[in-house]
Formats: sequence, C-alpha cells, structure tokens
Amino acid sequence: MTLDAGSTIGILGGGQLAQFLILAATKLGFKTAVFDPNQNSPAFKVSSKNFCSSFSNKSALKDFGNSCDVVTYEFENIPLSAIDIVRPYCEVLPKRNALEIGQNRILEKSFAEKLDIKTAEYSKVSNKKDLMNFLKEVSSKGIIKTITSGYDGKGQFLVEPHLINETIIKVLQHNECIVEKFQEFHSEVSIIAARGKSGSIITYEPGANVHKNGILSTTTVPTNLKKNTKIELVLAAGKILNKLDYIGVMGIEFFNTENGLIFNEFSPRVHNSGHWTLDGCMISQFEQHIRAITGLPLGETERHSNVVMKNIIGERVSVNTNNNHSIYDYGKLEVRHGRKMGHINIIKK
Ligand code: AMP
Repeated sequence: MTLDAGSTIGILGGGQLAQFLILAATKLGFKTAVFDPNQNSPAFKVSSKNFCSSFSNKSALKDFGNSCDVVTYEFENIPLSAIDIVRPYCEVLPKRNALEIGQNRILEKSFAEKLDIKTAEYSKVSNKKDLMNFLKEVSSKGIIKTITSGYDGKGQFLVEPHLINETIIKVLQHNECIVEKFQEFHSEVSIIAARGKSGSIITYEPGANVHKNGILSTTTVPTNLKKNTKIELVLAAGKILNKLDYIGVMGIEFFNTENGLIFNEFSPRVHNSGHWTLDGCMISQFEQHIRAITGLPLGETERHSNVVMKNIIGERVSVNTNNNHSIYDYGKLEVRHGRKMGHINIIKK
C-alpha cells in the first residue's frame, strides 16, 4: 500500500537521523511524529507531533502507534519490546527481524555467514582463558565487543595477550562479549542500500570511511575501489536486504583487506556514512528511506558531485567562509566528548 501525502510517519528515536528523515518526509508532503525520552531531542524541533516518554511506557507507545500510518526507527538499539508494543497499532518498517539481528553481533555474523558473506573470525568469550585461547588460535590482536548495545565504538577494547588488564576482565565478567580477530585493512568501506515495497533494490556508490576511536570521522566518495570490489558490495547488499525482506534504507560496513571484503556490521536504518548523499545526489538516503516505507517508488542514486563528509565531534559547529562547505549543525544543547554535533559536506566538483 502507498501512503498518501498528509499521512503521518512515526519515528522511534529523536536524534539527527530522525531530524533529516523528517525534513525529507515533509518535502514529500507527509506529517511526522517523534518518540524519544529526551526532551531536548534534535528531531523535536522539526516534527509535527512529539511524544516525550520512556521506551517502556506502554500507553505512550500505544498512543504513538495509534497516531501514525507507518512507524520507523533511527537507532538500532531501540528496545525490541517497544517495537512489539507499537506493532499491533501500526506497521513498523524496517521489520522487526532486521532490528533483532542488527542488535546482536553473534546473530548478525551468523546471518552474514549463512549468506556466504565473509566475517572476521570471532568467538564468544567470558573469561581470560577463553580470550587467551582465541588470541593464540588466530595469532593476532583482537577486539572485544559487547554482543549487544554497541555503537560508535562503545563497549570495545583492543586486546593483545600481554595487554589483558583488570578493566578487560571486568568487562568480560559483567557483559556478554565476543572477541574478534583484528583486521589489518587497507580501508573501511560502506554501502548504503534501499529496498522498496515492490522488492526493488537500489544502492548508492560505496564510500571510504575513516574512524577515530571507533567513531566515524570522514566518508569520501568516490573511492578508489576496484570495479570487482564495488560489484561484490552491491551483491552482498542485495543478498542481505532480500533475505530480510527488508523495507527501507540500510548502511552496511566492511573492511577492505588483502583477503577481500570482510563484513563488519549492518545498521537497519539510515547511516552516518550516507550523509554525503544530502549534497552528492539528487535524492538523499533520507528521502529514499521515506519513499521505501511509504510505498513510493525509489529514486535515482547517481552521484553528481565528489564529496568528503566530515563529522564534527565533541565541539561546536562553526560556520566558515569556504563556499564549498555544506554545513549541518544538529542544534544539540550540550557539547560532550565523542558526541556528534554536526557534519560538513565538502563538495568537490
Ligand atoms: P564497530 O562498532 O564494529 O563498527 O567498530 C567501530 C570501528 O572499530 C570500526 O569501524 C573499525 O574502525 C574498528 N574495528 C572494529 N572491529 C574491528 C576489527 N575486527 N579489526 C580492526 N578494526 C576494527
């Protein structure tokens, strides 16, 4: 079913991704509603209706679901329980399975492996002995990651056999964790893909990503990836979206290594590494997501400009005089260490 203009799109989570989704939805004639526990959520400034309440408040979630024609989410750590409360009252897209798998690193990796998409070697670990055994087996450094609730490098620790300290032991004691073989990659790349209600899939050109302290710092398009690697990325995206019967935009991250592409993770939502599409393409990832979940046809993804997207993290966004800088300030009140405050798309014709 295609939603008519004037229908209401609900978004769980009120950060900058929701803010951009709302701007795209408004452009297409839709109304919006945002649900977030934080009263200073960036998206509250631009939505038609706000629900400021906890993700465990059943009656608020029910009211939210009842006032929307479709509900989506902007954050992969929205509790599944919140989705389950909303679902009887309103369709939630992308569907629950994508969120469930995307929230759990073991489910996510085994999902990719079943599709013959290569992942980093990993093992579940709960103590020092498990960790030592794994590091010995792979003869490499490792990265410990919490199985759930990880994003932007949170819950991650680099480990080497001689560097297993008290902090790491405590993390293993208090959280369910995996350890992953450290990848000596040439580059990190991501692909933004969308699947519509008809099952059609489109992808944007892959971007080359640089992370600092586990947080995305820059995305550059075009990349110098080989044609075969680009094709492999598109095929992997297609397999993932089809298998999930996915509807919406997804960001998928890979390590580009000597041994080929290694899948890192997918995010069942619009993605920071797709922010370049706001200025590099006629139709951004945000509009594409709105089109997908409302049943509208997906649009053109061709890149018309070269772009370097630079995140502004832990400091105020300043407007400079470079006229090729497209500046985005998320309007967050408080500057915090590691907090994404805005981004700049540097346009290179
Ligand atoms: P993630 O939360 O899994 O996306 O990890 C955040 C960032 O940490 C990645 O984008 C990489 O820069 C780095 N990282 C994560 N896992 C690995 C790995 N197995 N090998 C090397 N670097 C990694």
